Amino acid sequence: MSQKKTNQKTSLVKSRFQIPRGMKDILPEEMPYWQWVFEKAKNLLEYYGFSRVETPILEKADLFYKGTGKQSDLVKKEMYLLKTKESGEILALRPEGTLPIARVYCQYGLFNKPQPVKLYYFGPFFRHEKPQLGRYREFYQLGWEIIGENSPVLDAQIINIGYNFLEEIGFKNKEILIYLNSLGCEKCQNNYLTALKKYYRPKLKKVCSNCRERYQKNPLRMLDCKDEKCLKIKKEAPSPLDFLCSDCKNHFQMVLDYLDSLKIDYYLDKNLVRGLDYYTRTVFEFNIKNHDSKMAIGGGGRYDGLLKSISRIDKPALGMAFGVERVIEALKERKISIPKKEPEIFLIQIGQPAKKEALRLIEVLRKNNIEVRENLAKENVKNQLEIANRLGVKYCLILGQEEINEGMVIFKDMTSGIQENLPIEGIEEFLKRRLKINNQ
Ligand code: AMP
Repeated sequence: MSQKKTNQKTSLVKSRFQIPRGMKDILPEEMPYWQWVFEKAKNLLEYYGFSRVETPILEKADLFYKGTGKQSDLVKKEMYLLKTKESGEILALRPEGTLPIARVYCQYGLFNKPQPVKLYYFGPFFRHEKPQLGRYREFYQLGWEIIGENSPVLDAQIINIGYNFLEEIGFKNKEILIYLNSLGCEKCQNNYLTALKKYYRPKLKKVCSNCRERYQKNPLRMLDCKDEKCLKIKKEAPSPLDFLCSDCKNHFQMVLDYLDSLKIDYYLDKNLVRGLDYYTRTVFEFNIKNHDSKMAIGGGGRYDGLLKSISRIDKPALGMAFGVERVIEALKERKISIPKKEPEIFLIQIGQPAKKEALRLIEVLRKNNIEVRENLAKENVKNQLEIANRLGVKYCLILGQEEINEGMVIFKDMTSGIQENLPIEGIEEFLKRRLKINNQ
């Protein structure tokens, strides 16, 4: 017998179909975290006037090529591509959320609406990366974008909302780390890149092969390298901050002033560039103290030139996104518990007529917003009481043959063990009073 059980177990583990590498199932035990994070974000973002949009998982690959430049790792190495049968068009599983939102803004003429337009999204994204803890091939992002205005107060507000989101879901303000930098406008970036290349040229033998390639094709990305030997060299590299024109300098100074006035602490990270090529001016990342420093839980910035690169619309914009898996991993690391909704009533039934009555009663309770758990398939009272105890409910309703005949139901207080016989008719009113009293 025990041999049979073991075999069954093994066959489950070795089930023919396993989840693809780097993807993640969200099981019921995990789901409360996801709902908690989403509900908090939704309330917060809608308070600040953001509207939710969802775009398809598939987009034309060209959107990402045009928007991020063909040299970024994101489009060069990490995009999942597929060819449509009828036209041979190349589509991509969306690797990020800003470009689809920018497309929506242009495609539906949102530039004709009062500006800025504030949008948020929550959904899966795909990057063909080497999977490890905190880095997946499918991951969820919660992001928000403000399109149509270039005032630095918006840069501060976007960061402020990110900060408030982390506080709302349970992190303490001292645990929240914000790293900030400014890349300047296109002109500042061109001057900076010349200086950066000059700095790296004599050191090319000492950097990794990826960085040598980046030096030729996309030098800014060298600052993104996490290779130990490159990190050392990066430390002394010139900073984009030293190449800001006076407009960009003022813009950044004002962002810092607004953050100071909100009493939000931040660190200046003079070589923060982020992984995507479209950023201009402010860039930032969020992390949690003692969480893996190489795995920012969120980040974003301004992308004033992005819309122009994919359309004829030239509007400034900015946004940010949190990686939901990393946020939840950090919540768990910190042992931050989230409120769980526990059922308060369990309905026990014995015999077929009681099952019929139970089915009817559940509907009455549902229409009265009274949550009830049951296990209708079970026959025996002891079994059902055990389940009720495991669930930790406060009360049980018990329906047996005798109760059905008399139009009654037993109400059992699980803490005191006291039982009362009550008429089924109107039991919902009694329960509402009882639950309300206890919820006060
Ligand atoms: P990005 O779109 O690269 O600016 O990333 C924004 C956030 O998404 C990051 O700070 C991470 O929290 C999350 N993220 C990005 N790539 C991954 C990945 N491969 N796996 C898990 N989370 C990711």
